[in-house]
Amino acid sequence: MLSLYERIILAALVCLTVILFFIPVLKRVLIMARCRPAKRSGSLLRRFFYTLSRVFLQLCTLKNERPWTGAAHLLIFYGALAFDTMTINHVLEGYVDGFQFFGHSAAGRLFSASVDLFSITVLLGVIFFVIKRFLARPRAYNTGAGDSALIYLFIFLAVTSYLLFKMFSQAVHPGQDSWAFLSRWLADSLHLGRLPVPSLSFNLKVSYWLHALVVFSFIAYVPHSKYFHLFAGPVNLFFRKHQPSGSMLPLDLETAESFGAERATDFSWKDALDALACVECGRCQDVCPAFASGKALSPKMVILNLEKHLWAQYKNIKRSREDWPSLVPGVFTEEEIWACTTCGACLHVCPFDIEHPDKLLSLRQNLVLGQGRFPGELRSFFHNLETYGNPWGLPASRRVTLAAELGIKTLAENPGAEYLLWLGCFGCFDDRGRKIAEAMVKILLAGGLKFAVLGEEERCCGDSARRLGNEYLFQELARSNLKTLAGYNLKGLITFCPHGYNVFRNDYPALLEIQGDLTSEEKEKIRSLRIISHLELLADLLDRKRIILKSPLENPGTYTIHDSCYYGRHNGLLHQPRKILRAGLGEKLKELKNSGEHSFCCGAGGGLMWTEEKAGQRVNHLRSQEIIKNGSRLVATSCPFCLTMLQDGLRDKGAEEVRVMDVAEVVASVLRD
Ligand code: SF4
Ligand code: SF4
Repeated sequence: MLSLYERIILAALVCLTVILFFIPVLKRVLIMARCRPAKRSGSLLRRFFYTLSRVFLQLCTLKNERPWTGAAHLLIFYGALAFDTMTINHVLEGYVDGFQFFGHSAAGRLFSASVDLFSITVLLGVIFFVIKRFLARPRAYNTGAGDSALIYLFIFLAVTSYLLFKMFSQAVHPGQDSWAFLSRWLADSLHLGRLPVPSLSFNLKVSYWLHALVVFSFIAYVPHSKYFHLFAGPVNLFFRKHQPSGSMLPLDLETAESFGAERATDFSWKDALDALACVECGRCQDVCPAFASGKALSPKMVILNLEKHLWAQYKNIKRSREDWPSLVPGVFTEEEIWACTTCGACLHVCPFDIEHPDKLLSLRQNLVLGQGRFPGELRSFFHNLETYGNPWGLPASRRVTLAAELGIKTLAENPGAEYLLWLGCFGCFDDRGRKIAEAMVKILLAGGLKFAVLGEEERCCGDSARRLGNEYLFQELARSNLKTLAGYNLKGLITFCPHGYNVFRNDYPALLEIQGDLTSEEKEKIRSLRIISHLELLADLLDRKRIILKSPLENPGTYTIHDSCYYGRHNGLLHQPRKILRAGLGEKLKELKNSGEHSFCCGAGGGLMWTEEKAGQRVNHLRSQEIIKNGSRLVATSCPFCLTMLQDGLRDKGAEEVRVMDVAEVVASVLRD
């Protein structure tokens, strides 16, 4: 179809487009290479199939709280795949007149017909996004309007210029592409076949070049825009963290070059990839309790500001680490860093599994360990943990007294016990937490388990210290607990606090890798220790009829459930509490608006239980309002932190009549003697 000169020009344009595309891609690679290493290899097949399912089944956008947006994205995604293939076809057509993938067989005609069909679906998808972004203007779309407008325009021009070319092609080669229903119909409706042959050939060539130029310009623009997520997104999904989302990797305090992230180069290449893959959809912002309650934090802006900073520093990429500017306060403020409850809602809804909380925790770590900067009220918290092994600074002997009051022996007194009931700081020192401990003891005795408690040997698990950035204190507490646990022959450790569960199950094992004061036998003993949440245990005891409940508790109305972030979203324990509650309270469960994996944080996670919430509304007030709206008179939870926050929130909102109970208390109250 093209003359020799035109073919040379086309080849030159293709080369130029490829160069223009790859220069910014290379820059991204250089930025990532400048950051710290991260171990994201291993389980390659698992990674591959996960990415495939998220991308090709479009679970990345369909499996979240925006079904219509997900559906529109699906239309555009498959359309883009078809058009990408058609672009290669288009270039080859310039060299081979009438070239078509799969020839003019049924498969070839089907391919043409599908591209015609995708022209419609893509245009519908674009119209949806234009209306949503520029007319509905949700808060989540508060950035990138110009970029979006340009992208929508490019897509629109690519589709319409393709149809224009295809129309003239139909008129020049009548009957050749009979299944391409749309371009055929357009050509017929406009009576293009009646045009003189020279005019048709001229128009065919003009439309050919028009489509080629639009598509080449689009391709060259893509790596400069958020549309690059088409490439960076799947790569980011491939290298996602495989450990549970609430876990943290230990910092080797003896060999670490820096504590946490002070500069962008202190982040890992995966953190940089996260920033470079963001599509600015704002899903993370929509679900963030800190953002919803008016704090300075938006997870979307954390990622976006990191991306902007990385690009801004590119010109000085070769500078040594020390010459990179500090991130606080230039890029991030202390207010936003201290507002994160580590609830993981952002990460959970992100189409590309971008790991926001880890970045905030690295920044916190640097503030605390590198610069000694943290909210004033944490001074006594850290001191109490360090000196007394509990947040309140109460004598450890209280833990022994409690064991005696509960009628339970300590492991030192009963070393043959199979299970350790971890009472935790709340279970030992907080009046309300103690009631959960009493309920647990009652259930375990009824279930016939051989168990004991640690008594004076128990120290805080260190979850809050770690998530408040004090890795040093966390490791000190964890070391002491690990040493104690290694001294006994236990089958399992039972916890009724999701924070303890998460830290024992996901944080302590990784710590063993760098822990020098345990023998390999002791490490092995700890690795084989089963960490059992009270949700799993209660569900199992009920299943195996080791405990029998009276008929469901007399409960005149409905009840609801508040899923804790660390049992639910971070560790997937979602069906167990529902099963237990159905057994204990009957079928009148009325779910909250934000429930299950989309639960809304109580505001106490990430160590914020111990800080003052000064800015905006209180997160527990927002959650309490949701509970009040639900209308249930009883809300069940499975975390002593959540229980405290919800009780306080409901009281502040004048709804003291709504009872807050732990699932263990529910079960204990209907336990058959
Ligand atoms: S972890 Fe929770 S509080 Fe922190 S940024 Fe994400 S959604 Fe917001
Ligand atoms: S981080 Fe993820 S959820 Fe948040 S705006 Fe970017 S792509 Fe969307």
